[in-house]
Amino acid sequence: MDTTTPPTTTENHHEVVVIGGGAAGLSGALALARARRSVLVVDDGRPRNAPAAGVHTFLTREGTPPTELLETGRAEITGYGAQVRTGRVVDARARAQGGFGLRLQDGAALTADRLLVATGLADELPGIPGLAERWGRDVLHCPYCHGWEVHDEAIGVVATSAMAVHQALLWRQWSCDITLLQHSAADLDQHERDRLRARGVRVVPGPVARVRTEEGRLVGVEMADGTTVALSALVVATHMRARVRGLEGLGLKVVPAQAMGQVVGTQVESDATGATNVPGVWVAGNAATPFEQVIGGAAAGLRAGAAINADLVAEQARRAVEDLSAA
Ligand SMILES: Cc1cc2nc3c(=O)[nH]c(=O)nc-3n(C[C@H](O)[C@H](O)[C@H](O)COP(=O)(O)OP(=O)(O)OC[C@H]3O[C@@H](n4cnc5c(N)ncnc54)[C@H](O)[C@@H]3O)c2cc1C
Repeated sequence: MDTTTPPTTTENHHEVVVIGGGAAGLSGALALARARRSVLVVDDGRPRNAPAAGVHTFLTREGTPPTELLETGRAEITGYGAQVRTGRVVDARARAQGGFGLRLQDGAALTADRLLVATGLADELPGIPGLAERWGRDVLHCPYCHGWEVHDEAIGVVATSAMAVHQALLWRQWSCDITLLQHSAADLDQHERDRLRARGVRVVPGPVARVRTEEGRLVGVEMADGTTVALSALVVATHMRARVRGLEGLGLKVVPAQAMGQVVGTQVESDATGATNVPGVWVAGNAATPFEQVIGGAAAGLRAGAAINADLVAEQARRAVEDLSAA
């Protein structure tokens, strides 16, 4: 295709298919559409932050509801000719003749020269009754997303790993009423106890049995020994698993994601541009970097989109030289 003319595409073939239309995917699509590439975003509409009322720490967009941010993004990319299709990719693999073949849940078949995987991650919560129902409202994970909203309130940190002490000390920045609920974490050592005590963090031993709610709000937890702890928010660490179900046929390298020496989930391995181990496939956002926030996911999408465009430019130049030589 000559890029001095608008890109040609067929209903089922695109230069780039973006799998996942969250901040990362839409941002990649924006860069590609503005680079005059034919782009299709396939998205099944389950962004990670869907339960949250607003997106925070996104300069100029403070508190915007997640769906509104994505609707704005969709309008921006379609304004440059990108297409958005609601659907779920259930199979993806390289084709012998080059490029990639995709199958959607509704049976549709698509092909693409390049892929951008921006499928995000799935948060696996500790299995405490009542926790999942409050996720993203008053069961929280990220102080930069929700800390301000619960500042000075009674906050409990559910300890499930050695990172819990770090979490408790971190959230102490937002409130002086922090309780570390020992739950399933190993016993604290003296150094950890000293640090928590010095910062005024209470420690409650034993497992959490269930979350207590009243009138649709979290009001605390009941411990396994029957005692209750009054709280207005709970902090948990989730296991963050890259969403790659249905994409196994691509052969992407999925590796453990680590933080502070702990395995915290999985991620698709990539370089700084998002290039994966599979030529022609890039990854951006939480699928590649679990701790990335919305603004960072958008930046990663842009980087990957630019890298994909550069790769297509290089291929076009190579083909043009071959054509000239053959003429
Ligand atoms: C409760 C909560 C609150 C948060 N609050 C904030 C906040 O205030 N500020 C902030 O910066 N960050 C916040 N985050 C983090 C934020 O959600 C992520 O940084 C961001 O969503 C990552 O964007 P993404 O594009 O990588 O993935 P996502 O936003 O999760 O988008 C991925 C998209 O891909 C789709 N998809 C997945 N698999 C397929 C498939 N096979 N086929 C088609 N589509 C597929 C999904 O349905 C989804 O729409 C919060 C996270 C949580 C859990």
